[in-house]
Amino acid sequence: MNDLLPGEIEIWQFVESTARTLFGRFGYGEVRTPMVEDTALFVRSVGEETDIVGKEMYTFEDKGGRSLSLRPEGTAPAARAYIEHSVNNQEPVSRWFYMGPMFRYERMQTGRYRQFYQIGAEAYGAKEPAQDAELMDMVVQFLEALGLQEVTLNINSLGDENCRPVYHAKLVEYLKAHREELCADCQQRLERNPLRVLDCKNEKCQSVAAAGPNVLEFLCEPCRAHFNDLQRKLELLGVRYVVNHRLVRGLDYYTRTVFEFIAAHPALRTASTVGGGGRYDKMMKGLGGPDVPAVGFAMGLDRLVLLLKESGKTFAQRPDLFIAVADEGSQDEGLNLASRLRREGLKVDFDTRGGSLKSQMKRADKSGARFTLVLGEQERTSGQAKLKPMAGGEPVPVALDSVAATVRAQPEAPAPAPAA
Ligand code: ATP
Ligand code: MG
Repeated sequence: MNDLLPGEIEIWQFVESTARTLFGRFGYGEVRTPMVEDTALFVRSVGEETDIVGKEMYTFEDKGGRSLSLRPEGTAPAARAYIEHSVNNQEPVSRWFYMGPMFRYERMQTGRYRQFYQIGAEAYGAKEPAQDAELMDMVVQFLEALGLQEVTLNINSLGDENCRPVYHAKLVEYLKAHREELCADCQQRLERNPLRVLDCKNEKCQSVAAAGPNVLEFLCEPCRAHFNDLQRKLELLGVRYVVNHRLVRGLDYYTRTVFEFIAAHPALRTASTVGGGGRYDKMMKGLGGPDVPAVGFAMGLDRLVLLLKESGKTFAQRPDLFIAVADEGSQDEGLNLASRLRREGLKVDFDTRGGSLKSQMKRADKSGARFTLVLGEQERTSGQAKLKPMAGGEPVPVALDSVAATVRAQPEAPAPAPAA
């Protein structure tokens, strides 16, 4: 679990505000659900045999003897809220997004933490491939807005309750014939959740899986039509994708469409999936809710931030102005001027400790401020001061009662390199 401090948090805020703006454009409204839920919710939706429920949940008993779990993902809690508030009776289609911490007891690695953050979205009420395509387009536009282009969209279809059992049986038959080649974990999975073998990161298991039956060849006619139409719509939207018949995803509730966004950057190592999702048309009903189809995704915020860090861009907003005081008698006036300018919308830094002008100028340098204004007795009596551009160049004369307007009127110069 990580602490996020100023200096880094600006990247997180950038990602979050980009998501808010972009998802808003697509008509998605934010939902916030509690951090804990009944354990049974995840068992019934994510599935007992998944890694998440099987070994990664933080589960505890509360004082009333109930089994609760810190949420390991956001889809089930959102579905619970949707059912609890009978949202389907209020509108036929709902589009929600959420962001916040998730908890999984995993082995720490780069891009894999025990408290991590997801941004996700769910569209309820539309079973059409256009909804899947719209959702993927939203992720693509989100990644574009973040400046993360080196990400590949993988798509697949897992079929539905009609065709999946046929494929399932064929897969089990095939895997059983290759049992000896599988890792110990997969030999277990073979009995309990054979689809998961396709998702194993072990190279040998991957090559066994690659030569196995292809789920797409088993799709029934409606599922095939759904998948074909999805591809046609992605092409229409100019969304680039690859079909990956081994993509299954780690949760049990998916039907038909599944997808993942995979980053090429080596910094992520084995944590290269920045997000994924799929359609879960049967989950609501399975949870005792209405028969409402849904499709959604979740992105790993930690991994997006890692990629943005690698990009070397800066996200911290530098101060417009640093106010330094030349003498102790100007300290109160400096404090007051800073307050006034902040009210007028400037980002202003001021050394509340006072001290020598030299030490304040050092601080001004380090702050990355665009301008420094030195306030002394002369400035106070004349009402006139100078804006010193920290990137170099001629000082700009300024009246103390029009500092904000003058700062705003100055052309943006490139940021000075902050002093070490
Ligand atoms: P992985 O295969 O990497 O374990 P997953 O299939 O378990 O991923 P999902 O449940 O699909 O992941 O969650 C969606 C996204 O959330 C992932 O693509 C990833 O970016 C992020 N994520 C999942 N688990 C973690 C974690 N422990 N730490 C950081 N990010 C995570
Ligand atoms: Mg995982």
